[in-house]
Amino acid sequence: MGGDQRTDGGSAPPPVTRFEDGVIAIDTLTGGLTSVTAGYLLPAARPTLIECGPALTVEAVLQALDALGLGPQDLAYLVVTHIHLDHAGGAGDVAAAFPDATVIVSDLGARHLHDPEKLNASSRRVYGPLFDTVYGPCTPIEAGRVHGVTDGNTLDLGGGRRLELLHTPGHAKHHIGVFDPTIGAVFTGDSIGVKLPGMHRIRPATPPADFHLEASLDSISRYRERSPERLYLAHYGPIDEPDDALAEAADQLRAWTDVAEEAYREALSAGGGADHELQHVAETLQQRFATELDPGLEDEESIQRVELLNDTRSNAAGLLRYLQRRDAGTLTPLG
Ligand SMILES: [Zn+2]
Repeated sequence: MGGDQRTDGGSAPPPVTRFEDGVIAIDTLTGGLTSVTAGYLLPAARPTLIECGPALTVEAVLQALDALGLGPQDLAYLVVTHIHLDHAGGAGDVAAAFPDATVIVSDLGARHLHDPEKLNASSRRVYGPLFDTVYGPCTPIEAGRVHGVTDGNTLDLGGGRRLELLHTPGHAKHHIGVFDPTIGAVFTGDSIGVKLPGMHRIRPATPPADFHLEASLDSISRYRERSPERLYLAHYGPIDEPDDALAEAADQLRAWTDVAEEAYREALSAGGGADHELQHVAETLQQRFATELDPGLEDEESIQRVELLNDTRSNAAGLLRYLQRRDAGTLTPLG
């Protein structure tokens, strides 16, 4: 976390944090926990919110926007880095509350925000009971208000400020990163991984079905080329040494993939079948990386955040699928 934040709201811990570059972080209170998923408000001539968290807790975000003085006509854009429900689940509710806002999303995800039936059904399968207790269903947004973007598109925030939208697959095919050259910040979504309270290092986010190592590394390179001064992670908060953090994110992705591959080969030669492969990869990752993650992850809330958002089994499943498709020769450049 940066040391420059000051906080509003009075209650502890506060839901809103202002940074000296003007960015305002709004805690989406995902899963009823603090510091899991941030939305970032850019108070430009055309105010823009990046990420809104899941539908189930989006009311907290709407209340924060109201408390920050945004009237119903005041939000110009909601940008979601990708359509996973912890980032975009509340987009329909934000669109309903701000009728002039346009929702910006990768063109590969746009139709799912307009017609979220398939997104909700697949999310229900992935999240199981958490779909109802943590995420909630996406509500549809009229097609004309969802704007699908491609790599290199820009978003005019007024007053000469423009965001550059980068297609940054690897975590998900439909992932975009947002570069704001005016303040030198990149909003990384999930593309470089997560760094939750108590974590000493960036931890990869490699869920099924899209995880793709080379695409992830390319995406990280795209950010490095822009020489940002700060990264804003959706999970959670700013990082002020972007070069070190991006190098670490790439190293971590390679390390997790190497360990997963070694465990996958062991499981294959043991011949225990698909369940055994997943179990062995997950256990090996946990053993190998727990020691570096555990020191700060002692309190119950820190453990809950990781389990909710980035549990090792989900990472193992995504890595395994990637390795299997690589073996089968069925990987595409995107995932
Ligand atoms: Zn995600």
